[in-house]
Amino acid sequence: MKCPKCGTENPPGKIVCRNCGTRLRVQTGGQAAVRWTDAELMTWVRADVRRLLAVSSIVITLGVIIGYALR
Ligand SMILES: [Zn+2]
Repeated sequence: MKCPKCGTENPPGKIVCRNCGTRLRVQTGGQAAVRWTDAELMTWVRADVRRLLAVSSIVITLGVIIGYALR
């Protein structure tokens, strides 16, 4: 990723420029600010899947309990 200030090419994932220290992630108006790295994305996806599993297991458990209670 290219530094907006001095133009130095920095390795992807770098937060600040290795040459001048300018923050590389903070970009106004660009799409880069919303783009996630693969590692960040995987962390989020895993957290989401875990949350989904937790919620669905609670819902299923409650459903079974209510099903038994109404019988
Ligand atoms: Zn720079």
